Amino acid sequence: MSTTLAQILDGKQLSAQVRAQIGEQIQAGMGAGKARPGLATVLVGDDPASHIYVRNKRRACDETGMQNFHIELAEDVGQAALLQQIVELNLNPEVHGILVQLPLPKGFDYDENQVLATIDPAKDADGFHPANQGALMQGTPAPIPCTPKGVMQLLAESGMELKGKRAVVVGRSNIVGKPVALLLLEQHCTVTICHSRTTDLAAEVANADVVVAAVGVAELVKGAWIKPGAVVLDVGINRNADGKLVGDVEFGPAAARAGWITPVPGGVGPMTIAMLLQNTLEAAWRD
Ligand code: NDP
Repeated sequence: MSTTLAQILDGKQLSAQVRAQIGEQIQAGMGAGKARPGLATVLVGDDPASHIYVRNKRRACDETGMQNFHIELAEDVGQAALLQQIVELNLNPEVHGILVQLPLPKGFDYDENQVLATIDPAKDADGFHPANQGALMQGTPAPIPCTPKGVMQLLAESGMELKGKRAVVVGRSNIVGKPVALLLLEQHCTVTICHSRTTDLAAEVANADVVVAAVGVAELVKGAWIKPGAVVLDVGINRNADGKLVGDVEFGPAAARAGWITPVPGGVGPMTIAMLLQNTLEAAWRD
């Protein structure tokens, strides 16, 4: 058994703090005459995991005093009706943030990119609209995707000076890997993005002062690869062969080498919801 030496980056605790702050901001802002922030959640179909994710997001809205507009559509509602629904939310002045839960049901010809591009960029609580992704690339202010934003807030908790550090991001998805890499670049890290065709993942990770794993393969990143003292942020949520929830990083052995590490569960996951609320609040009270 490995001994845990790394300090834990506790996403559960940090997200509770962020949500409490958001609740206080909402109370104070409304007391000063500002509008109650509103988040619309759009859920298409019956995927059980999506239902759980959306339920947690709605519950977080309630807890902070944010208004929630929830829309559930049948899996076969179709692209046109879904787009129409989004247009209506775009026009609703009480809705400041819009989230369409992904993935959309398979086998019904939904065009996810078109759905995301239909959301008003100013109400894009997830930060997936192409204009906002472009703004992130240019380094101009825009809603930042929630999981990458949460990763950066957890990383800040480590206190590591990021300028000049080597960061390795494993995974290149549009929702996690690529935006995290851009955010690390903005903090002046030297960033390497790895993916399924990377020839020597172990060697890449071994060089990294910061490792972000966003793959979706249980314990792919081995503890022995981690540079002593590195900060390890594990985005993955997987079930291992025993049915246990694990990340993309082999936690025990990695924690024995890392300086800081996020657990799964209780690391990046809870931060994603807190950042969704933060994006909605920012959208509601933007000048
Ligand atoms: P995607 O499936 O979209 O992307 C996975 C990436 O991992 C791809 O770039 C893929 O490479 C790469 N990859 C796959 N296998 C390997 C391998 N053997 N070696 C190196 N790279 C590999 O996943 P997401 O980015 O959407 O999600 C990643 C994980 O994060 C999942 O477990 C997901 O559940 C979790 N997640 C957690 C969130 C949270 O709130 N905590 C939010 C979002 C996601 P290639 O591009 O070459 O195919």
